[in-house]
Amino acid sequence: MDDASDKPVSRNFIQQIIDADLAAGKNGGRVHTRFPPEPNGYLHIGHAKSICLNYGLAKEYGGKFNLRFDDTNPAKEEQEYVDSIVDDVRWLGADWEGRMFFASDYFDQLHAWAIQLIKAGKAYVCDLNAEEMRTYRGTLSEPGKDSPYRNRSVEENLDLFTRMTAGEFSDGARTLRAKIDMASPNINLRDPVMYRIKRAHHHRTGDKWCIYPSYDYTHGQSDSIEGITHSICTLEFENHRPLYDWCCRELGIHHPQQIEFARLNLSYAVMSKRKLLQLVQEKHVDGWDDPRMLTIRGMRRRGYRAEAVRAFCERIGVAKFNSTIEMAWLEDAVREDLNICAPRAMAVLRPVLVTLTNWPAGKTEVFDVPNHPQNPELGTRKVPLSGKLFIEADDFMEEAPKQFFRLKPGGEVRLRAAGIIKCDEVVKDAAGAVTELHCTFDPDHSRKVKGTIHWVDAATALDAPVRLYDHLFAVENPDDAPEGKTFLDNLNPSSLETITAKLEQSLATAAPGDRFQFERLGYFYTDPVDSRPGAPVFNRTVTLRDTWAKEKGR
Ligand code: ATP
Ligand code: MG
Repeated sequence: MDDASDKPVSRNFIQQIIDADLAAGKNGGRVHTRFPPEPNGYLHIGHAKSICLNYGLAKEYGGKFNLRFDDTNPAKEEQEYVDSIVDDVRWLGADWEGRMFFASDYFDQLHAWAIQLIKAGKAYVCDLNAEEMRTYRGTLSEPGKDSPYRNRSVEENLDLFTRMTAGEFSDGARTLRAKIDMASPNINLRDPVMYRIKRAHHHRTGDKWCIYPSYDYTHGQSDSIEGITHSICTLEFENHRPLYDWCCRELGIHHPQQIEFARLNLSYAVMSKRKLLQLVQEKHVDGWDDPRMLTIRGMRRRGYRAEAVRAFCERIGVAKFNSTIEMAWLEDAVREDLNICAPRAMAVLRPVLVTLTNWPAGKTEVFDVPNHPQNPELGTRKVPLSGKLFIEADDFMEEAPKQFFRLKPGGEVRLRAAGIIKCDEVVKDAAGAVTELHCTFDPDHSRKVKGTIHWVDAATALDAPVRLYDHLFAVENPDDAPEGKTFLDNLNPSSLETITAKLEQSLATAAPGDRFQFERLGYFYTDPVDSRPGAPVFNRTVTLRDTWAKEKGR
């Protein structure tokens, strides 16, 4: 992530905290961050934000960055998710330099620490069931009540916890709780659960354990074990920070600083893993890598480059208050990135046939066309023309207004890189639809003609599937559904249109993963899954302009 090394002029609030820590000599001048995903789903653009932030800070300060799986919930976690996360973090360009860890690696240490807390009178075994525990917990406005088991002796707690660990009790029969303060205004401090009994197969520890530590009891200590200095998380953990601090303090271990920032929300998207999973499981999309999904998988298959995702994350900065970022910002970052690197090509999505009436029979002319307007290093390609060609249906208008500078009856337009055509005759079918245009061709480029359009030679055109993607949701805030409806009711029914387009001959050899700008249309990606040699399938990555802004008159 080269862009992260350029220090921005103004420092965000996290950089200011780290600057101050370094100035005060905290942590011996070390900066060590981590990205701590729970392997219960695929990563999305919000996670990308967190990865870029954590890795970017480590890099900026010459520190370290860990990848750590917070795998404390055996019921929802799977190896498939671990593998995809590893691959996606690597794709984004964050380098953990071999420091990939699992919270489950620390289960033995966490267990020993639990015993330490029991011995110190700071944890107890509680026999309340989940329902009872809820009643005892109190509410935001009322304090909780002490559990009747709160004052068990250290010996009894040690005995019961040992037997919990050995599997003597049924699932949910007992818990180990931290003994903090049932009257605390912060509900997280009202004797939170540290261990639950749960007979579930864990993706790494198998059936070794029948008790599992809670997220809150695991997270801070895992950070501590790894020597993390700044534990950056999203705002909903602000109320958990006192518990994070309590655990490190009571155990007397290295104490990282938890810092919260606002999670990324994007318009026209949902970000919760639960909802993304629902979209996949109920087949509203074609899987985690559906190009309409803002998963990293989806963005990759859509054709976004990691450079664009990183630039976007850098640009939006970090905030202390939740807000929603316009989807247009992400798309702009993608356009800017692809504009520089994507070779140009011509494709016609909705073709109308043009016959050049003055074209010599049997003649084919081949033009040498530059692949990029600003970058001659991308070379040129051969583009043939042989008397019949396709142009975009909406580049012709029969009853055209004055400002229409493309093709109209009796009018002229420039064919990109080839010459000028004049429309002499409009051929229609019985229903009155335009089926063909008869034009005359003028190879003289020097004349001034207002419009230039793209085109594809009919004789050599390649028919290929092109998928036109649009926002998955039709409204800016899909989570905002009226009574009785859900976010699913806000799905955009026309988020995917597959058409057969006419492509210039050179695109037949496009390799899976190649990116192009189809002139005047947008950026397109050669689908790595469905393309076959000589038969590419293209995904539209992004249009050339923000069409939503235009339609909505923004
Ligand atoms: P869930 O949706 O189940 O609450 P999560 O999105 O928090 O899960 P985790 O795997 O726990 O998923 O996230 C890993 C890290 O990514 C956490 O540090 C979390 O704070 C951060 N993160 C998750 N979503 C966002 C987001 N939208 N913006 C920024 N950071 C995020
Ligand atoms: Mg989470």
